[in-house]
Amino acid sequence: MTNVDADPAELVCRSGTDHRDRRAVEVLEPRDVPLGGIRAMTVRRTLPLKQRSLIGAWCFADHYGPDRVAASGGMDVAPHPHTGLQTVSWLFAGEIEHRDSLGSQAMVRPGELNLMTAGRGISHSEVSTPDTDVLHGVQLWLALPEAARSTAPAFEHVVPEDARDGAVRCRVFIGSWLGLSSPATVHTPLLGAELLLQPGGAVELPLEGEFEHGVLVDSGAVTVNDAPVGRAAMAYLPPGTRALRLTCGSSPGRVVVLGGTPLHEEIVMWWNFIGRTHDEVVEFRNEWQAEIAAFADGAPAATRFGRVLGYPGAPLPAPTMPAIRLKPRVRPER
Ligand code: MN
Repeated sequence: MTNVDADPAELVCRSGTDHRDRRAVEVLEPRDVPLGGIRAMTVRRTLPLKQRSLIGAWCFADHYGPDRVAASGGMDVAPHPHTGLQTVSWLFAGEIEHRDSLGSQAMVRPGELNLMTAGRGISHSEVSTPDTDVLHGVQLWLALPEAARSTAPAFEHVVPEDARDGAVRCRVFIGSWLGLSSPATVHTPLLGAELLLQPGGAVELPLEGEFEHGVLVDSGAVTVNDAPVGRAAMAYLPPGTRALRLTCGSSPGRVVVLGGTPLHEEIVMWWNFIGRTHDEVVEFRNEWQAEIAAFADGAPAATRFGRVLGYPGAPLPAPTMPAIRLKPRVRPER
């Protein structure tokens, strides 16, 4: 999905360092972000927030739905660019058709991962299919580390295996956990998993101690390491946390567990671009604007972002950049 902010701020994102009270669970409350348009969906964002902008390399987390397409109009995101990141599309309900400038055409379906690696540049469109009544899922981004951020773009569709253990059913779509493993290509140590909890269930699961984790609650009256966490909120667990304790109320629960080693790179994120400096992001924006103008004139597509074929409409122009120019900040702690 595109970053749907009509007037997105430019953000410097870095790994957090303030984990003074290791006993307390930090709960990230979601921020509502309305999609543009008349019958707009609203998404609930827990990354980036002011107080926390990265969990491992996870740098963007939107939760949406369940949303009746008849009321919301569904999803129709015209071709738009990305740089320096991977998009992780994971659905609980509905179906979305993905097309990108590599020529990929694939469906996003519940329980199946679409992983798009933007690397130095890609463009794509996303449209919910006509058969979709309800859209419900998460859109996540991973920041690529310096060594991989200029890599060639790529697209992968992965159907992870799932396993049940007592009161919990698990699908690991990124990384390895609980004996499950995803073949999806990532560039830093990471975890992405969906857990389904039975009503009244209580589980304790081992965590990788080098990782920090975010536990995004989709449904159920869920506690995370004894803290109640509301719907679409995310519990943050700092590095050194060795166990994830979950309890679930009287209805079934679902959570998405994100984890990774702290990135320790300062990234600049604006709209759909991740770079390292303001000037670099300005250059990405200028290239995209020039490319969509050239495409409109019928120019060939030997460009950074390429061209999405099969989308019935024009690409998305970039918003205007904010007037405030970000200054470089201190080097992140290692
Ligand atoms: Mn996108």
